[in-house]
Amino acid sequence: MEKTKTLIIGSGPAGYTAAIYASRANLQPVIYKGIQPGGQLTTTTIVENFPGFKNGIDANELMAEMQQQAQNVGADVRDGAIVKADLSHRPFICEDERGNIIQAETLIIATGAGAKYLGLPDEEKYRGQGVSACATCDGFFYRKRIVAVVGGGDTACEEAMYLAGLAKKVYMIVRKPYLRATEIMQKRVREKDNIEILFNTNTIGLFGERGVEGAHLVRHKGEPNEEKYDIDIDGFFLAIGHRPNTELFKNQLELDPQGFILTKPKSTATNVEGVFAAGDVADPTYRQGVVAAGAGAMAAIEADRFLQDKGEK
Ligand code: NDP
Repeated sequence: MEKTKTLIIGSGPAGYTAAIYASRANLQPVIYKGIQPGGQLTTTTIVENFPGFKNGIDANELMAEMQQQAQNVGADVRDGAIVKADLSHRPFICEDERGNIIQAETLIIATGAGAKYLGLPDEEKYRGQGVSACATCDGFFYRKRIVAVVGGGDTACEEAMYLAGLAKKVYMIVRKPYLRATEIMQKRVREKDNIEILFNTNTIGLFGERGVEGAHLVRHKGEPNEEKYDIDIDGFFLAIGHRPNTELFKNQLELDPQGFILTKPKSTATNVEGVFAAGDVADPTYRQGVVAAGAGAMAAIEADRFLQDKGEK
């Protein structure tokens, strides 16, 4: 059976940064890339808000650089996913998809999260061509244009406010007759001149020859006053929530009601000694690559200190 001081699961900015720090601390980490190598960033195109790249950088190139940097300092980067994890005692016993068993003295979970989509075929068709789930990442491309945000929660309101500062007009497509967001966020979007809220409205599809040019909507779906109509938009932003990738750790780690891993304040430590969580899997709030990278660094430093304190390093 293979043994490692630090096993890292996930290869987004949190996982690779943890791998870089853990390698440089001589923890000889093993990192599994998981089912989405490079993480959520690879679903976007150009990253313009990661510091250090004055002209922005292609998202896949950024993640390839991080992987190479981790390998250059000695991380053992592997394809594939961890499919089982027993955190009931240390060393933790993990199994990859090929059936290899790994004993890990410390575990850094950086499995990320995924934006929820409506499930429309057009979301796939126009992904990266007008469909996005991150206004902070992609909003910049819609300056002085028209966009729609789907959802009525705090995320949707935040995304709409952010986009309203860039775009000419922002529609909010809200399926209920009210917003679910907190009062203050509701007040902000209602008072913003260039935000129009379309209540009782669902999206049926998107259209456009070269990328998104509009959306097919339905008001009062299934009711006698049902009405179908179209709006012209250049961008379609999903903000109906995120799903953290924590299936493996259910009933083993403390999670919040949405399934995000709970960590100690100003720390990546979970409720299980020796298990650390970094990046979007533990962050329902910021969800930014640079924040995840910072958390990855914290997790590796904390794993190193943990092993030192135990006299195991
Ligand atoms: P929420 O679950 O709060 O809201 C999701 C929204 O998307 C709801 O309006 C929901 O509609 C709508 N929705 C869900 N599925 C669909 C669908 N299939 N079709 C159409 N609409 C859909 O998610 P958020 O990401 O907004 O927030 C998650 C948590 O994070 C919340 O607790 C929130 O308060 C918190 N948060 C806090 C922030 C802050 O404090 N600054 C910022 C962002 C998030 P419906 O209401 O009909 O269910």
